[in-house]
Amino acid sequence: MFDFEKGRIRFIRGGKYPHCHGIFIEDEIRTFIDPASDEKKLLAIHHERPIQVIINSHGHEDHFLYNSRFPDASLWVHELDAPGYRDINLFFNLFFDPEDVGEEEMTRWQNFFRDVVKYEPREPDRFLKDGDILDFGETRAKALHTPGHCPGHLCFHFQEEKILFLSDLDFVKAGPY
Ligand SMILES: [Zn+2]
Repeated sequence: MFDFEKGRIRFIRGGKYPHCHGIFIEDEIRTFIDPASDEKKLLAIHHERPIQVIINSHGHEDHFLYNSRFPDASLWVHELDAPGYRDINLFFNLFFDPEDVGEEEMTRWQNFFRDVVKYEPREPDRFLKDGDILDFGETRAKALHTPGHCPGHLCFHFQEEKILFLSDLDFVKAGPY
């Protein structure tokens, strides 16, 4: 079912935009990091036993795509990206320049957020800070605040398993992020 697993960490491949790769931590506290990969797979895992925590590495739609499918889970994010979860207009203000985006394109985006993302305003339950140790039971991860791509961008270091989840930090031609 998983492309890669180590300890209690399961990697779920997401493919390309509007999806991203994500992690399922199958531990005492069942957790998704970036639930935006494979909707069917995510829901199947959730139906086995409910997901208790969802973590977003940052506030881009291709990382919180399926947050709304887990309304009862606690949401953990960096505080600097919090406005985008609270209010769709704050999200658009953060990432869309009205001068660049015409009315037609804006309507397309609004439809996408209504029909695909099924955006629901949400107050995060926990703000993650640089150096926080997240304890899921047997699994521990250290949150690393890595701003640049997004003010609240986070990476997660699973020291025991020697895994570093980099999210959108990618050293490709398009740039250092
Ligand atoms: Zn991003």
